[in-house]
Amino acid sequence: MNTGVTPKAPVPDIAAQITYAMRTMGVAPIPRNYELFYEAYIGSNPALTRELSALGSKATQEELDTLGEQYFGRHHQSRIMENVHSRIVTELDGLLGLLKQEQSSLESYNKLLGETCTRINNKSKNSAELLRSAITLLQEATGDTMAHGEKTVESVEQKSQEMAEVRKELDEYKRIANTDSLTRIANRRAFDEKLAAIYDGSFNLPLTGLVLADIDHFKKINDSYGHPVGDKILASVATVIRTNVRKDVFVSRTGGEEFAIIVDGNTPDEIMQMCERVRQALELTPFKNSRTGVNYGPITLSLGLCMANAAEDPGELYAKADIALYCAKNAGRNCSRQFEDGMKKDFTKSWLIYRR
Ligand code: GH3
Ligand code: MG
Ligand code: MG
Repeated sequence: MNTGVTPKAPVPDIAAQITYAMRTMGVAPIPRNYELFYEAYIGSNPALTRELSALGSKATQEELDTLGEQYFGRHHQSRIMENVHSRIVTELDGLLGLLKQEQSSLESYNKLLGETCTRINNKSKNSAELLRSAITLLQEATGDTMAHGEKTVESVEQKSQEMAEVRKELDEYKRIANTDSLTRIANRRAFDEKLAAIYDGSFNLPLTGLVLADIDHFKKINDSYGHPVGDKILASVATVIRTNVRKDVFVSRTGGEEFAIIVDGNTPDEIMQMCERVRQALELTPFKNSRTGVNYGPITLSLGLCMANAAEDPGELYAKADIALYCAKNAGRNCSRQFEDGMKKDFTKSWLIYRR
């Protein structure tokens, strides 16, 4: 019989196919591998699909993790670890809530039994005796159950505290992973994350700016006074930048003698004023060795700003701030420049050669 309804195409069981593929390839059935196979299977990224199949049937966990880090960001593993732990904490909290509910309902039950017992006491003597002993028994049983419940709550509470400790340790782990050990400010990894977040919809782009800052003639400092002195100066420069911007401004060391600052919530003029404040503060900072009397300074910075609404994505924003920085270098160093469209034409090629 023709019902007029077109039969539906069978829905492929993606999960089963992925699990089958993983098993066939001898891949451990863990969430991060599943995520990798899922993305490769649905073809969201053809390069990932290609690379994963190129690993063949003998992919090691290390190779899989390298792919994961490459395609899902450098924090693939730690992100997963964090997710797992925060899920555990949430679930424990939920469990604790349930146990508390159970305990309070038992308490009401116990109260009710007590009231019933009092009421029976006030009625006929014979039946009262019988009922009172029955209820006393019930009360004892309930009391035992309650004591047991309290113990369970206590041990779950302890578990929850332990999980909070684990969480604290993980937070600390994350803080260390995102900090530059020499300057104690955010590192490249933290910067990459922050830069990528600018275009995720939570930033007000006309009031968000990226500033790239590069120490002037730093090579000369190293050549003249040695690398260890250079390192100390790098740390001092980071401190000068950090102390001359608002607390919520993101300051990072992106490599060598280069810093990146992300400001959220200021106009271009205000951000340029901030750049100048930092630049002048550094210029005026004494860099004198108190023991030998050698003066390493003045140490100066060149800075380039690009506002987030002048670019389409993090890569373009970085490139344009970089062009503005080059302009500042080209203008004689120790100054700040904001990206303008005209700058692009003048510097694209030579700047890239100069930089990389
Ligand atoms: P410019 O004004 O054009 O920026 O000149 P520059 O000498 O600062 O630039 P260049 O890129 O030629 O040299 C950067 C130098 O920074 C080279 C390297 O010796 C030094 N450097 C990079 N990383 C470190 C570091 O971690 N510690 C020290 N002490 N020096 C570093
Ligand atoms: Mg440099
Ligand atoms: Mg430099």
